[in-house]
Amino acid sequence: MPRRNHHRRAEPPSPLGGSQARVESGPAGYDGEQYQVRQIPGARATKTYRCPGCDHEIRPGVAHLVAWPADAIGGAEDRRHWHSGCWNGRGSRGITRRWS
Ligand SMILES: [Zn+2]
Repeated sequence: MPRRNHHRRAEPPSPLGGSQARVESGPAGYDGEQYQVRQIPGARATKTYRCPGCDHEIRPGVAHLVAWPADAIGGAEDRRHWHSGCWNGRGSRGITRRWS
């Protein structure tokens, strides 16, 4: 008996937020500097990257995130791969956190 699979859900489950990017303040903490941030699950991390936050490598298989200037449309060369913790702590070196 045939299955009826075209009963699509409006919102597919996406525990990691899927591939949607979110916008956050940039690593330098400048006012108005906005970065798009996308989570990279470990299964999709297939190369070694260098994290600009700590200058250490991000190994394949390690979940991390990628960030790029929000106003750089399609500027893939501006993308930087960060350890999640380094990105989250990016503003702690210079300024205190502005968001509350
Ligand atoms: Zn790092």
